[in-house]
Amino acid sequence: MSAKLIDGKKIAAEIEAELKLKVSKMDKAPRLSVVQVGEDPASTSYIKAKSNAAERVGIELTHHHLSDDISKSDLEKLVVDLNKTEDGVIIQLPLPDGLDEVLDLIQPENDVDGFHSVNLGNIVQGKSGMKPCTPAGIVEMLYRSGNDPKGKHVVIVGRSTIVGKPLALLLSQKGVDATVTVCHSRTPDIGRHCLEADILVAAVGYPDTITSSMVKPGAVVIDVGVNRTENGLVGDTSSDVKEVAGQLTPVPGGVGPMTVVMLMSNVVDAALKTG
Ligand code: NAP
Repeated sequence: MSAKLIDGKKIAAEIEAELKLKVSKMDKAPRLSVVQVGEDPASTSYIKAKSNAAERVGIELTHHHLSDDISKSDLEKLVVDLNKTEDGVIIQLPLPDGLDEVLDLIQPENDVDGFHSVNLGNIVQGKSGMKPCTPAGIVEMLYRSGNDPKGKHVVIVGRSTIVGKPLALLLSQKGVDATVTVCHSRTPDIGRHCLEADILVAAVGYPDTITSSMVKPGAVVIDVGVNRTENGLVGDTSSDVKEVAGQLTPVPGGVGPMTVVMLMSNVVDAALKTG
């Protein structure tokens, strides 16, 4: 058996078309500012993908590319100023040491990455608000690929603040109604938990963490990992997982495009709120 691929690129294109229609009815284009500090090549390629998507949807994206010797106070001033003019502001991670606190200066209503503690707190309380893009993209992808998580056992490997933890909260929300297990580097015998998953999410950051012997036959496997190897980009699942899984997201072309389109969706929502 070979797993059916869940085409994140195609699903993201459908959502882009919906967003483009919404934007075409707005009086002015939504505005997004992306702040990059330093020369991390992965950040540059992520920003390129965001910039291309913004252009397709009709969002005005400004890329502020700053030198890594910028002072904390200058960066703070930029973010405070952008809060006043932009619908969405993101600071591309990673930031050089000592600058992470600036992230908290993005106002929650402009925080289109959904990383602000107010937005994360809203998820905990089941309130509406900006959702972090990768977890929101995974949930959207499940619905749009015909994999309603209601009543399903979802096992998430990884408990980061930007992927694993908020995803667990979104999936266990009333109305979404999955039953969620979260595993991490201190979980003994991860394979035992993974084997019970109807939907298995790998968000670890190491290739081959999830192998075929850890996957229940027919399970839906969402591979969040982006690992740069000498063989190119690979996820966190080994190549034999496709022999056991029922459905699988490819890397690249799975979760990545969903993350980008959910960012666009957050920008459009932020612009609609401010009018
Ligand atoms: P992270 O902050 O490094 O968190 C990784 C998590 O994996 C941690 O909770 C860690 O456990 C756990 N872990 C590490 N080794 C493990 C092991 N052997 N067994 C079980 N759990 C293990 O990473 P992240 O930001 O969540 O990102 C995870 C991956 O997703 C990365 O490859 C990243 O590039 C990718 N990613 C992709 C997208 C996308 O749009 N496609 C978006 C975001 C991230 P502890 O907490 O115990 O350390």
